[in-house]
Amino acid sequence: MSKSIGIDLGTTNSVAAIKKTHIEVLKNAEGELITPSCVTMKKKKLPFSKPAFVVGKHALEWMKQDPENIIVAIKRLMGRSYQNKHVQQIIANHELHYRISRHSKGTEKSLAVILNGKEYTPEEISSKILEKIRIDAEKSQGDKVDYAVITVPAYFNDKQKHATRTAAALAGLKVRRLLPEPTAAAISFGVDNVKGDDAKTVLVFDFGGGTFDLSVLTISGGQFIEQGKGGDMWLGGEDIDRFISDYVLAETGKENQIDDMKKFVKNQDEKQKNLFLGELKTKVEKAKIRLSDEDEAYIEILGILKDSDGDSIDVDVELTREQFNKIITPVVDTTIRLTRKILEDINFTPDLIDNVLLVGGSSRIPKVVEAMKQEFGDEKVLVHERPMLAIAEGAAILSHRLADTYECPKCGQTVSQSDKICKNCKFDLEKYIVEQGVVDIVHSAAHDYYIYLENNEKHLFIEKNTPLPFEKTEVFKLVHPEQKLVHMKFVNIVNEADEPIGDLWVGIDTDEKKDEKKKKDALHIKITLKIDENNLVEVEAALKEYPDIQLSKTLSRGKSDEKLFLSLEKMINEANLKGYTEYTMIDVLHRSLSIIKNINTVINTKTGEVNEPIYKFSAMKIEKAARMAAEGHAGKTSIYYAESALHSFGQAIPAKNQADIRKRMKHLEEVDEHGTYDENIRALKDFKQSIDNLGGVNALMQIQKAGHICMDTQPSKAHKFYKCIKDIMEEFQNGNDEKASELLTAIMPEVYAVTNKFDSKTGVIHKDITK
Ligand code: AMP
Repeated sequence: MSKSIGIDLGTTNSVAAIKKTHIEVLKNAEGELITPSCVTMKKKKLPFSKPAFVVGKHALEWMKQDPENIIVAIKRLMGRSYQNKHVQQIIANHELHYRISRHSKGTEKSLAVILNGKEYTPEEISSKILEKIRIDAEKSQGDKVDYAVITVPAYFNDKQKHATRTAAALAGLKVRRLLPEPTAAAISFGVDNVKGDDAKTVLVFDFGGGTFDLSVLTISGGQFIEQGKGGDMWLGGEDIDRFISDYVLAETGKENQIDDMKKFVKNQDEKQKNLFLGELKTKVEKAKIRLSDEDEAYIEILGILKDSDGDSIDVDVELTREQFNKIITPVVDTTIRLTRKILEDINFTPDLIDNVLLVGGSSRIPKVVEAMKQEFGDEKVLVHERPMLAIAEGAAILSHRLADTYECPKCGQTVSQSDKICKNCKFDLEKYIVEQGVVDIVHSAAHDYYIYLENNEKHLFIEKNTPLPFEKTEVFKLVHPEQKLVHMKFVNIVNEADEPIGDLWVGIDTDEKKDEKKKKDALHIKITLKIDENNLVEVEAALKEYPDIQLSKTLSRGKSDEKLFLSLEKMINEANLKGYTEYTMIDVLHRSLSIIKNINTVINTKTGEVNEPIYKFSAMKIEKAARMAAEGHAGKTSIYYAESALHSFGQAIPAKNQADIRKRMKHLEEVDEHGTYDENIRALKDFKQSIDNLGGVNALMQIQKAGHICMDTQPSKAHKFYKCIKDIMEEFQNGNDEKASELLTAIMPEVYAVTNKFDSKTGVIHKDITK
């Protein structure tokens, strides 16, 4: 029977556990419970031997020799774009020793880490950690491990979760659930403490190596209901280490009269520098851990740093608990502030919290425990007995609950999740599960979900902490009666900044003639936003007046369509700003409608795969549309013009010309849709030439146009133009070409007075919605 495990995929360390009759934390191939989340490449013994990945403890051992090729803390980069503020900060501050760059094959936002000169995505690196965990678990269980519940920080957004799923898939694991880490910790706590009908509200304070997660959960009748979450995904023990390192360097500088110690280290010989930084990191962390139990610790690094005379500059710093507490005050204050904030966000007061559960290595620090005791009272604060293993244990419990089948705790026979009693030994499985605590988890929305309205206004669609799964439908109004495009842009707000989660564009292709009545008013669009328990977001949109025009899409599936939609949006915004003529804008609009159809098929909705040819094709069409608009080419309007000429004045156009126009028109339509810029320009030129050949018909078309323009405002003038057309046609049909020509010459000045004004009018493409 294939096994289902729980995995705590941590920033610093990862842990795996399985639940059978009891919970077992799994030992890795090195015989240890904790696997450092660290990846490198085996040094090649022979020039042609295949490179192999090394994960965990053995990878970490290379840190001092070759820090540039040891990937640590990859979780910080999961689902992040290259331009992300925090990523840029990591790069600028050299917080990670390996190289982070733009991915040469991805979109401009995609990020890669460099390992032995080769690019890898964070998902690929993370998958190596998961793969080791899977293989080690299979060895220890003597069975296949296909399924896992993987924990993620409560603060992970959709993209980060999606990246985690991708990593699991690459590692050959099927994800049963992505479980927020604090919830996992509380599950492991809940099993021991909340049974049957008890109800408790706990604040899980998970302060690990790289992240700080907060979560308020109510545990009742075996259900875990998330009330709210908070924290800071960029705060952890590593920040404390950095503060201590800064202190140690400053002290050493003072001792040796070196003003800028960081610069001094930077200027060391490359090998010595790496050796020193590795040593500093290890010793600082050791001192920090020691200070959780002792009153002082020493950091000594001898004989590595050298000054310009070749003399040793040694590090020999004493750190007292008092000094340490002073150094970490800003970090502890931040954790207190964020703890107060989460309670405020969900309108809770500290007295409503039954227990504060401290998990994660950094919550061992006495000053942190003390601060929480001050906030909530001594008796409420519990430090988890196994702070580093709690999360994996909780994940294992849920993984066991979600497995289709499991082993009967009494006789070990395979029973199915729906069995109430073991068929073999008659053990009461239903009672057992309730007693065990976990029945299911009610998840909640991690962020506020907004949709953009016109004038860049944001409309709150679904509020943070809404229980999931959840769906909501709202009706919005388009901004113009003749609007043909609807752009729906969804964002989360994370740390007070927009975090785009995706776009939906709908094009409106309706039969104009049938819809004269409906055109008077702007249409309405019904938008449904659905969020499932994994925070995966799906949107559905349908026009209220034309329910057939509808579209649905899972947001945050891929970045490629997002990039295309952004360039489309930019292209339309630019066209609107530059004030192109109405004709040009009609062409831009039609091109946009067709581009939207293309973009909507770039990502396979089932597999999430990107269709490269369609991606490139769509990008080419956006560029072509922008260029043609800037140069004032309007293919679509020329086609409308010719269709109208053939329809109204067909009898005045010789059959040969008609056939020629139709042929070229068909070709132009074809290249408008599929052709390159050059092909498009050529086809348009050809087409225009055959229109120019229409001679007098073009003049008649002008008169007709003047008539249409005047129809609403000056009907009598419009009728004058229409009558003139009739007279000219009659003279022409009777063979009085000269008379026809006279009438034409007489009316044209009046015609131009009307049409010139119209032709210089600028057009606008409406795409927004309003409430
Ligand atoms: P985690 O992400 O939960 O595995 O926590 C790892 C972080 O906890 C690292 O930054 C460790 O340095 C830190 N840590 C582990 N044990 C202790 C301790 N006793 N006191 C202070 N920090 C600790």
